[in-house]
Formats: sequence, C-alpha cells, structure tokens
Amino acid sequence: MTDWVENYPGFPDGISGYELIDRMKRQAENFGLEVRNQEVLALELTPKKKKVVTEGGVMEAKALILTTGAAPQRLGIDGEALLTGKGISYCATCDGPFYRDQEVAVIGGGDTAVEEAIFLTRFVSKVYLLHRRDRLRAIKLLQERAMAQEKIQILWNTVATRIVGETEVKGLDLKDVKTGYETHLPVQGVFIFIGYSPNNQLAKDLLELDKWGFVKTNNDMETSISGVFAAGDIRSKSLRQVSTAVGEGAAALVAAQRYIEGLQ
Ligand code: NAP
Repeated sequence: MTDWVENYPGFPDGISGYELIDRMKRQAENFGLEVRNQEVLALELTPKKKKVVTEGGVMEAKALILTTGAAPQRLGIDGEALLTGKGISYCATCDGPFYRDQEVAVIGGGDTAVEEAIFLTRFVSKVYLLHRRDRLRAIKLLQERAMAQEKIQILWNTVATRIVGETEVKGLDLKDVKTGYETHLPVQGVFIFIGYSPNNQLAKDLLELDKWGFVKTNNDMETSISGVFAAGDIRSKSLRQVSTAVGEGAAALVAAQRYIEGLQ
C-alpha cells in the first residue's frame, strides 16, 4: 500500500510499492511459487497439522508462515482517505525527507508520535505536535527531548476535524476540545501516529502474542506452535520496514524447511 518506497536497497531512485511487490512476485514465480488469491477464513494449528480454511476449501501443510502484516490506525476524519499518500503519511522514516524546509503536523501523543516528531526536525522547518489532551502519553525522556527542540510546537487539547486539500494537503481544521474554539493550520504534510494495529484476526486465539497483539517468535521466526512461523509487520519487534520483512521471510523459510526435514 506504500505509494513510493525510498529505503529499500538496490533502488536508488525509489520504486512504487505496487511495482516492488509485482517484481518480487514474478521473481518467486520464476522459481516455481504458486500463488492462490483466496481469502483465508480460519487456521487450525497444532504441532502435528496446519490447516488453512479458505473460501475455496481447506489446505493442509506441514509448516506455515504467517505474514498478515499490520495497519496504522486511521483518524477517520474528512480528507484523510483522499489525501493519504498526497501529504498524509503514517511513516516519518519513509516520507520525512519529502518535506524538507516545510511545515508539518504530527498527530498523537504517544511514544511513536513524539519520537517521529523529533525525527522530522532533521528535515522540516517546523513541526506542530497535536495532542487531544493536556499531557503527553510518551515517556518522560521523549517529552523532554521534544520540549527542548525549538522546531517543535505542541498544540494541547487539540484535535483535527478535517484535512484540507484536493490534490495535496493545504492544512488542517483544528478544534480546541476544552473551549470549542476552531482554527485553521496551514501545513504541507500531516503525519498520523495514533497507534498501529496488527492484522492478527487469524492468529489471536491460537498463537502467543505480545501485549499489543503482535505475534511473538524466537530468532528463527518460530511462533509458540512448532512448525508455525511469522515474518514481517505481524511480528513482535521494533523496526517495521520492507527490508526487515524480507530478511525475516528468508529466515522463516529456511527454518520451515529445516522443520519439515526434521519430520521426515
Ligand atoms: P499509543 O501509545 O497507543 O499512543 C497513541 C496516541 O495517539 C495517544 O497519545 C492517544 O491519545 C492518541 N490517539 C489515539 N487515538 C486518537 C484519536 N482518534 N485522535 C487523536 N489522538 C488519538 O501508540 P504508539 O505511540 O504507536 O505506541 C505503541 C506502543 O509502542 C507503546 O507501548 C509505546 O510505548 C511503544 N513504542 C515505544 C517506543 C520507544 O520505546 N522508543 C517508540 C515507539 C513506540 P491519548 O494519550 O489521549 O490516549
């Protein structure tokens, strides 16, 4: 879903997310991969059997690698869907450099929002950090760093009610939740960090998860059920990028092969 991937090795000019996936798929198919486009409805996982229930029938496997990813939480306000990828971003590492010397808003008050607001000061001329309460949720150390950073201005008790623009972000309509006072903030970029949800619907009653719902694995990407592996954003980990997902996919595959060889 990423519009433009700038941080994947080997593509110095960047590549669209769609094209990168298409190339990976064609490359894997050249080695004999068979792709079936079917929605998975449920999993039945035991150390002995891995059953995948799809709309087209039930498949059985000796090993299974789960790669269902995660999704940033959306604000659900006007303009968000229209302008995602056109000035609205959920990843400062990916998109921060596009806003060099411009003014941006960061929405959220947790560790991610504050950490990313600090990161963005490397590029932008000003960061407005919008938080809906009068105290940040982020740890004290990050709060202190943000408050010491001249380029960051925190707008307390503030929510965005609309993201304004047609083909690119022009600004935000804001509301003070205590006074009801409404204003407009002209910015060129909006970074939303109000949480990140794992796509764990298939795994949540079967596999061990961390307290945020991401799947726990060991260094071989194996989950709490032997022969079931996980790779990419669904895993419990600290860095969620294409390059880390690809590396974990390779590690999971080798571990799955070893697991199957061990069964024979
Ligand atoms: P988070 O801790 O859940 O914080 C989400 C923030 O977004 C909160 O400040 C929340 O406001 C705000 N929010 C939620 N829904 C909103 C809405 N609809 N409108 C406006 N604001 C909204 O999420 P996170 O920052 O992504 O962190 C997730 C976990 O990863 C945390 O446990 C965090 O400690 C960890 N993490 C750690 C580090 C680090 O150690 N350096 C870095 C990043 C993340 P309220 O405060 O009012 O609820």
